[in-house]
Amino acid sequence: MHAINLSDCLSFVTEFTLALAGGRGFPSDHMNTMVDESHEELKTAVRELCREYPDKYWRELDEKRAYPEAFVQALTRAGYMATLIPEEYGGAGLGVTEASVILEEIHHSGGNAAACHAQMYIMGTLLRHGSEAHKRQYLPKIADGSLRLQAFGVSEPNTGTDTTQLKTMAVKTGDRYVINGQKIWISRAEHSDLMLLLARTTPVDQVKKRTEGLSTILVDLRQAAGHGLRIRPIRTMMNHATTELFFDNLEVPVENLVGEEGHGFRYLLDSLNAERILIASECIGDARWFLERTCKYANERVVFGRPIGKNQGIQFPIARAYANLEAARLMVARAAGLFDSGKACGPEANMAKLLAADVSWEFANVAVQTYGGFGFAEEYDIERKFRETRLYQVAPISTNLILSYLAEHVLGLPRSY
Ligand SMILES: Cc1cc2nc3c(=O)[nH]c(=O)nc-3n(C[C@H](O)[C@H](O)[C@H](O)COP(=O)(O)OP(=O)(O)OC[C@H]3O[C@@H](n4cnc5c(N)ncnc54)[C@H](O)[C@@H]3O)c2cc1C
Repeated sequence: MHAINLSDCLSFVTEFTLALAGGRGFPSDHMNTMVDESHEELKTAVRELCREYPDKYWRELDEKRAYPEAFVQALTRAGYMATLIPEEYGGAGLGVTEASVILEEIHHSGGNAAACHAQMYIMGTLLRHGSEAHKRQYLPKIADGSLRLQAFGVSEPNTGTDTTQLKTMAVKTGDRYVINGQKIWISRAEHSDLMLLLARTTPVDQVKKRTEGLSTILVDLRQAAGHGLRIRPIRTMMNHATTELFFDNLEVPVENLVGEEGHGFRYLLDSLNAERILIASECIGDARWFLERTCKYANERVVFGRPIGKNQGIQFPIARAYANLEAARLMVARAAGLFDSGKACGPEANMAKLLAADVSWEFANVAVQTYGGFGFAEEYDIERKFRETRLYQVAPISTNLILSYLAEHVLGLPRSY
């Protein structure tokens, strides 16, 4: 059975509604969409680990904008960061479905996997397109935690979502790439050993298609920082360890090129479906966290001599968000299933991200409304989660861009850009 204790929610529902729905088992039976027994074990194990890192842990880090080092180390020690790394390279050899279960459970527990989730999908580029030598060199160390690949350098201040226009150049000079340019919003750069960088190796005016001439290069941040790379932290509305990067003749060995020169954009696209699904799982976890907190509070908070949850003005937004959560959860499970069976899943992965980000944000608002003034008090954690889950309307891909993908690439409507 699922982990959510819905007994609090059930008290909202009248006997009449229950009869229509088929009895008291209705809500919990329908929560079991993507779970089988092995996942149940996995969920229990992740939940137990997360119990060591309660609300207070995240709240204090949030206040200081500090990196959750102890949590990331515990996740790594437990092997969760190596979920998608094949067994031959020291990982667990599991799929995106299992990785989703882990990330969902971290967020469902009140934690935030943004501190480390990127390693799961960045590593995919190395796995699919890196040479055998690269895989042997890096993957076992990433799996055992002695090396972190948590930074992904794509976004630039002057290009935004129009990635093919990015300006950072990597010019081959002998056995080195010399890199100049600027990146922004590069998360975890201060806490990662390696970064996968997307840079232009051929100027845009010298390629037939603007998607050509981009390359993926591994940058060893330990060597680069202070020697051609400057990292400037950006303080954001939530605790996210994001940074701005300045490259000034940074030299990187040519053997750090991942895959073929000029094909980086294709490699980027390859990793996006996994990224969408994994982020969607985090949104589902956030929504489930809000659901439980909100139901509990609505049952306990007494105003006008009765629990506020007795009022349909409080009940209905929670019930609607719950229905949307269930629908989004099904789409995430479907996208993950398709991905793991090697089938095309672009529309599903994008819809999963869209629906899940929408429902976590919907729930964030429902939670604040239900908590009233206490929704704004730091010690209740609602406002922290509210700030954290807001990000997913914008990053790693904004809602508008998903809608435009669906409109143009799935529905065949005319291109807008
Ligand atoms: C906390 C945080 C962490 C991040 N971490 C990373 C990271 O680790 N690595 C990395 O490379 N990037 C990272 N990003 C960057 C993130 O991926 C981008 O912010 C995101 O893709 C949006 O790009 P932008 O900010 O440049 O917005 P812009 O492209 O400038 O767009 C601004 C707004 O206009 C809308 N818009 C733009 N064009 C269109 C259009 N044609 N039609 C309709 N609407 C449009 C967008 O949807 C958006 O709402 C992070 C961002 C944040 C805030």
